[in-house]
Amino acid sequence: MSESMTFTGGCLCGRCRWQATGEPEFAGYCFCSHCRRMSGAGRTPFLGFTENRVRLSGQTSCYEDSSDASLGIIRHFCPNCGTRLYSVPGTAHVLRIFYPGSLDDPERFNPAFSIHASSCVSWESVPGQLDAFEGDVPA
Ligand SMILES: [Zn+2]
Ligand SMILES: [Zn+2]
Repeated sequence: MSESMTFTGGCLCGRCRWQATGEPEFAGYCFCSHCRRMSGAGRTPFLGFTENRVRLSGQTSCYEDSSDASLGIIRHFCPNCGTRLYSVPGTAHVLRIFYPGSLDDPERFNPAFSIHASSCVSWESVPGQLDAFEGDVPA
């Protein structure tokens, strides 16, 4: 597998690292209130991979977020520096959703759509050139 097919990233302090091979299953922005509160920002960029393509190192802490989605989502972060690393959706345990701000090469993020666009706050904006969905990604 060539370097260009591997995404690598990690937390601010360097204890937690991740890598994923191949292209992401999806990449976009989330405007939901949970992402907003957890990140402190109006939108959260994300990219997802199936777990069989992901390698993690370093022990994370996690928070079980019982969001509107009935099965909740497990949010993993570095216990030392607090960097948000990845999430595992209750509706799709096989997915690992990462945050591209933690990429070693953040320019590789290529968002295709927005979700929970209707929750966008007045001081943030939904990118006009991307598909926008009211709720989660249509299956
Ligand atoms: Zn850290
Ligand atoms: Zn969200």
